[in-house]
Amino acid sequence: MTTTRSRAERAAQARTAAPRLAAEGIDGVVFGWVDNAGLTRVKSVPLAQLEHAAEYGVGAAPCFDYCLVDDSFTTTPSSSGATGDLRLVPDLDRLTPLAAQPGWAWAPADRYTQAGAPHPGCQRGFARRAAEAVEGRRMSVKAGIEVEWVVADAAGTPAAPGPGYGMTRFVEHSDYLREVLTALTRQGLDVLQLHPEYAAGQFEVSLAAEGPVEAADTAMLVRHTIRAVSARHGLRVSYAPVFSDGVLGNGGHVHLSLWRRDRNLAHGGPGRHGLHPEGEHFLAGVLAELPALLALGAPSAASYLRLVPSRFAGAYRCWGLENREAALRLITGSTAGQANAEFKCFDAAANPYLVLGGVLSAGLAGLDAGLPLPPEVRGDPAALGTADRLPTSLSEASDAYEKSALLRTALGGDLYEAVLAVRRAEAELFATRTDEDVIEATRWRY
Ligand code: GLU
Ligand code: MG
Repeated sequence: MTTTRSRAERAAQARTAAPRLAAEGIDGVVFGWVDNAGLTRVKSVPLAQLEHAAEYGVGAAPCFDYCLVDDSFTTTPSSSGATGDLRLVPDLDRLTPLAAQPGWAWAPADRYTQAGAPHPGCQRGFARRAAEAVEGRRMSVKAGIEVEWVVADAAGTPAAPGPGYGMTRFVEHSDYLREVLTALTRQGLDVLQLHPEYAAGQFEVSLAAEGPVEAADTAMLVRHTIRAVSARHGLRVSYAPVFSDGVLGNGGHVHLSLWRRDRNLAHGGPGRHGLHPEGEHFLAGVLAELPALLALGAPSAASYLRLVPSRFAGAYRCWGLENREAALRLITGSTAGQANAEFKCFDAAANPYLVLGGVLSAGLAGLDAGLPLPPEVRGDPAALGTADRLPTSLSEASDAYEKSALLRTALGGDLYEAVLAVRRAEAELFATRTDEDVIEATRWRY
């Protein structure tokens, strides 16, 4: 579990870390955070400034809470426009020398006010509060976010046209993939699998489950690393929900298991497929809130070009054992520890902190209400004719989000309103554009 540290503790951490980093040849540290549109933003400092930055943070304009995918800004009645400042504070517990960017280290950042209080609009702070709420019930969550990406050549053409899951692609990019693997591993990441995905140029990596805030940090670091390795190989990377019209997109599937001490509540219980009652209520809570949660986990107009039936994207609000067309695929795994729920409807444009914070909040509400898990769906939900389709546009998901008292309370007014403003503004930005235009405008942004 990540902890927030005092200024003095952070400064002491930096004093210890700086000489170690210098000895490793590190010149600067980059601080990453993900905005409400789902774009990773960074600032960096030279090593000599690390202590000051850890203690007081570095300046960060609050207007980035209202920044859209195209770098334009929207506003709310409470937004301050061009005025004001926040402090971007690196979490040095996660300080990592970057294997594919020699001389650089990385740390995820929290955002604070200038007075030193947590910024209410901080997405990482929201995920941390949700994780603490789970712990408050004497439970814990293990999570992992799958990373899918498309590599392209300088002209923007998918650089690995071979078959989905194809050996051809794997052999052609052997050195590249090896470097992805070794870079991630050298950074202390616990890689489970790496493979060519279905779409042209697409690959996927999955990482071991960990605490929810840590899993979101990992997702940011993995993407940063893949981009850096790709650049060294002359490849461009796209994490956009859709790279090419009509083709499978980049998912950002969220895997979750709920634990009470060392007992996985998705294994060995009296419910369906070994679910424990608390596990069922938790999953029912997430399913109930899924249309609203899409505003967090499928945040782009392009997300709805991906989230369609028969693309393994989970376009229906239902669950099923190993069902890849259900938004919630239950996985029993080979061992007790592996049983987990995979939410497939979320994509790679999502801010991982917002998704995890939202999913945990919805799950806890289901748990508190003792919500029953609906019947399981076997086979393709589309074939049933009665299955509940998830929102089909960003506007529809934003409507559901706007009606969600649960998410308003969980995110807190400022963050909730900022996310809503960004969603509405992006829906408007793309309202009259063709699908092809939407894909074009988002392809290289995330
Ligand atoms: N790329 C698919 C998506 O958009 C998922 C493929 C799979 O991993 O099942 O979510
Ligand atoms: Mg996949």
